[in-house]
Amino acid sequence: GPMVSSARAEQIAARRREVVEQLAGLEQQLTELRTLREGLSDDDEHDPDGVSLSSEWSRLEGLKQSQRDALAAIDAAAARLERGDDGICEVCGRPIAPERLEARPDATTCISCAR
Ligand SMILES: [Zn+2]
Repeated sequence: GPMVSSARAEQIAARRREVVEQLAGLEQQLTELRTLREGLSDDDEHDPDGVSLSSEWSRLEGLKQSQRDALAAIDAAAARLERGDDGICEVCGRPIAPERLEARPDATTCISCAR
């Protein structure tokens, strides 16, 4: 019914805000890191500081990528909700358990198909 849909829409919107916030935080950290890196001269390239900055950079870029993927999944979930096929497993077509949707608002498969 409409009550369920609006609860889902709110759930998806809340999750989206969370991810957008995390993405903004990561952007901020990457910007700070870039500034730090630019502060290092070329001579410092093999410096342990330079190495740890590079690995921190890769870690943040990895996190950013996964948050972007999460955002895409959330937007897809919102689109499914609008089309009216929200909460339906993409694989078997059976309803996805509400507890699963609560834990993973962007889930597209039921628990059995996700295994
Ligand atoms: Zn399924």
